[in-house]
Amino acid sequence: MDNFDEQVGAIWYNGTLVPWGETRLHVLSHGLHYASCVFEGERVYNGEIFKLREHTQRLIDSGKELGFIIPYSLGELEKATRDTVASQGYLDAYVRPVAWRGSEMMGVSAQDTSINVAIAVWEWPSYFSPEARMRGIRLKTSSWRRPDPRTAPVHAKAAGLYMICTLSKHEAEAEGWDDALMLDWRGRVAESTGANIFLIQDGKIHTPTPDCFLDGITRQTVIDLAHHRDIEVVERSIMPDEFEKTDEVFVTGTAAEVTPVGQIDEHNFDVGDITRTLLKDYDALVRGAKSS
Ligand code: PMP
Repeated sequence: MDNFDEQVGAIWYNGTLVPWGETRLHVLSHGLHYASCVFEGERVYNGEIFKLREHTQRLIDSGKELGFIIPYSLGELEKATRDTVASQGYLDAYVRPVAWRGSEMMGVSAQDTSINVAIAVWEWPSYFSPEARMRGIRLKTSSWRRPDPRTAPVHAKAAGLYMICTLSKHEAEAEGWDDALMLDWRGRVAESTGANIFLIQDGKIHTPTPDCFLDGITRQTVIDLAHHRDIEVVERSIMPDEFEKTDEVFVTGTAAEVTPVGQIDEHNFDVGDITRTLLKDYDALVRGAKSS
């Protein structure tokens, strides 16, 4: 794959489609230095953007959590996203809207910066390798923890929150693991570096209460799918010592979709029936989906 600055097509950039290689932001942009930046990750299936409304609303809300108003309405952003997808012409793709403070001010205070928005669309087939998905991905518990909500705007999809995700994932990859599991500031099971986590125990699904990390759109979708199958879903606090009595584990996210987990540290899990069922149900839903 080409470097990301060398791909073809156009990127929606502050209101117009600009040739991919000609989108520019200045090196002295506040978003780059101080992480005043929020983004989204969306997937296109059969030409339709799955849950476009929810993702677009979350982008706007994430900006508000960082103290800025994105200068486009929900409808304008949805149209811009659809236009960008159409101009790229992919049937299956990944969409990355991003909003950041510009270069009018450089320093902690950034009250008068412009708010910039870009939307890029590219082909991104599978987040984990097909082999890793088949056997279940392997997660190593990170030494970094999801922060206390008093420490960071934990419900925003904010660039700054990914600093510890990248550190965690690199730490895991350096030892041959696929990804990292992150505990929260209290030592509870939280999520992986880019997806929410579910545990299956005695035929029921258990998932951590999202009180200090993203309540993912895929997470909410999969909870609905489980309810349709009459599978009970319990949201509660989960400590890592519960892995011993857990039969199956999977993670969910827009990029990761439903991905089985085969191992967390010294614990091994089967890719079992509930995981397989929800994986198939999710696949059927997204491929038959109309954008909302
Ligand atoms: N947690 C993190 C840290 C993520 O990056 C993502 C992906 N956006 C998720 C959870 C899952 O969110 P969603 O299902 O909305 O993509």
